Amino acid sequence: MHAKNLWDSCLAFFEDNLTPQQFNSWIKPLSCEVQGNLITLIAPNSFILKLVQERFLPEIAKQVEQLFSIQPSFDLKIEKKPTDIHTIKNQNQNLDKIKTSIATSNNTNPLNTSLSFNTFVTGKANQLAHAAALEVVASPGTTYNPFFIYGGVGLGKTHLIQAIGNQYKKEYAGAKICYVHATNYISDVVKAFQTKKFNEFKQFYNSLDLLLIDDIQFIADKQGTQQEFFYTLNSLIDNHKQVVITCDTFPKEITGISPRLTSRFSWGLTVAIDPPSLEMRVAILLQKATFSKIQINEDIAFFIAKHIRSNIRELEGALKRIDAYSKFHKQEITVELTKEALKDLLASQNKQVSIENIQKTVANFYRINTSDLLSKKRTRNISRPRQMAMCLARELTQLSLPEIGATFGNRDHTTVLYACKTIERLRITETAINADFNLLYQILQN
Ligand code: ADP
Ligand code: MG
Repeated sequence: MHAKNLWDSCLAFFEDNLTPQQFNSWIKPLSCEVQGNLITLIAPNSFILKLVQERFLPEIAKQVEQLFSIQPSFDLKIEKKPTDIHTIKNQNQNLDKIKTSIATSNNTNPLNTSLSFNTFVTGKANQLAHAAALEVVASPGTTYNPFFIYGGVGLGKTHLIQAIGNQYKKEYAGAKICYVHATNYISDVVKAFQTKKFNEFKQFYNSLDLLLIDDIQFIADKQGTQQEFFYTLNSLIDNHKQVVITCDTFPKEITGISPRLTSRFSWGLTVAIDPPSLEMRVAILLQKATFSKIQINEDIAFFIAKHIRSNIRELEGALKRIDAYSKFHKQEITVELTKEALKDLLASQNKQVSIENIQKTVANFYRINTSDLLSKKRTRNISRPRQMAMCLARELTQLSLPEIGATFGNRDHTTVLYACKTIERLRITETAINADFNLLYQILQN
């Protein structure tokens, strides 16, 4: 059996079954060696290795078994880094001795040192983005360029992009780093036009080692800015300088930005930050409380996390409110006090997420009838929305699995569990399903 045949067959399979972006990011960078039944997969970095191990290895094994009738065993290795990566690192370090540390133009903000990897809590919702961010700092300007992070409001995009900047600054002392919010970048462009200082503007951005640009969606409908950004982006990437971009949507869904630019966004690596799960919200609350010396126990954290679901910024807001309330009334924080402090928030959060509302919203979203969701129909166009609705019911209501099953035409709790697992799995492999889930999740909470 030839490694090349085997791997080519696997590549063909994944190319047909994954989105081009997934295929290019995770599978294509692998190489393969075969010795008897031992298949060694070589990944360019630990991030891809871990991901392949967790998500794709069972499928690779299945393909090999079916196509070549063998029971393979696997070994996963990280490719020895080519020297050019080290060269780039060293070059940066040498450069730095001469340059000043953080680059400034009129409008770029200094990094906020409290937004670091240390204070960034990870969970399923952001672990990919987090791991990739670490990899970007370890090997800047190589594989993931640009690194594009997208997700809804308050989910940690700014925190993560700033963490990259802070860590980069630590590792490559003196590197020329620029963090800029897209609105400030726009005014930089405008000013350069007005004052005829275009060369300086260009020189500034083109001389960076690391450009962090936050909330790129704001450059929509600004043709001049888009053109400038296109040049800067190309120039930095061609020179192996790292660019990190955040956005509130997936590149292809941004409107008002020229396709040549949005397609350039997807050349590197695109990762999502999803809304946090209950456990992750609890972990974040406990971490923030410890950090701000606010005394809350796990029961209280669970109580807050169960009721404040939309994003992390709101969790922080709730915590501050509880702290202020407890200080003002000179009472320690209990569940009772928490209820009292968050009374208004809880009232507005609690009323709407009923199971009927979930069923109606999901049915409308997929243009089917609510009665179909409760029926015995099993065609894909009905069963998938039904699974989505069950999964949302599990996340957004306090109902148990059997109770959810009962409201969906008396189904068994194992059916609900299977539905949740299916949607969780699909959210990882199918961007569209993940986007549907996140959209429905946010719609249902407003
Ligand atoms: P976005 O830019 O996506 O709107 P931010 O990065 O501003 O969101 O995050 C909102 C708030 O939540 C910030 O105070 C940030 O520090 C905090 N936050 C977000 N994600 C995390 C996380 N994973 N761990 C700890 N704090 C977080
Ligand atoms: Mg932000």
